[in-house]
Amino acid sequence: MIKEKKEGSLIVISAPSGAGKGTIISELLKRNKNLWLSVLTTSREVRSNDIPGLTYDFVTKEDFEKKIKEDYFLEYTNYAGNYYGTPKDKIMEKLKEGIDIILEIEIEGAKNIRDKFSDAICIFIMPPSIKELVHRLKKRGTDSKEAIMARFQKAYQEINEVTKYNYVVVNDEVEVATKKIEAIILAEKCRVDRIEEVALDTKEEAIHELLMSEDI
Ligand code: 5GP
Repeated sequence: MIKEKKEGSLIVISAPSGAGKGTIISELLKRNKNLWLSVLTTSREVRSNDIPGLTYDFVTKEDFEKKIKEDYFLEYTNYAGNYYGTPKDKIMEKLKEGIDIILEIEIEGAKNIRDKFSDAICIFIMPPSIKELVHRLKKRGTDSKEAIMARFQKAYQEINEVTKYNYVVVNDEVEVATKKIEAIILAEKCRVDRIEEVALDTKEEAIHELLMSEDI
């Protein structure tokens, strides 16, 4: 009776550093087989916890600029002196196959995606409180006081951008936050503008036949 769009949803997730975005995204991927985390491209240096090809595709600044000219990216940005970009072809292919895609990108990128895909689902993950944010940033242990302060200031600025998103999820408990995001994705599938066609068989004989049938 109802024909829904087969295409997957584009889910943009942003969060200030310390909000716990990484943990929530791994939970979502573990539980939902139809979700795919897009591998993004960057020109930043590889860190010890990176797995090239999995956390990012790492390229040189020159290669990145070449790809920009070749229109390889859906969006790209320069963040803290490095390029980051979302490859176009793979994403369009997966969306057509009906796979839901998570893009873990920063605020500027989220805005660019929203301009191109009006039905992208933009979710902002928020730390539960400033105190907890500072605690989480300090807990990482490896950063100097100055580095922690810089991260905090950046996070504070980013939190002010929350109203540009469709949804905000406070990450107090990972389990609850993950369930909220699953609920958002599910609710978005029921949006009326995802309906392609409502086919009602209005032929009188057909309806009469149904009314008279003893089988239903
Ligand atoms: P990191 O260097 O810590 O991995 O990432 C720095 C920031 O860049 C994060 O906020 C991350 O979400 C964002 N980012 C990563 N890839 C992309 C991308 O392809 N496009 C945009 N706009 N931001 C990205």
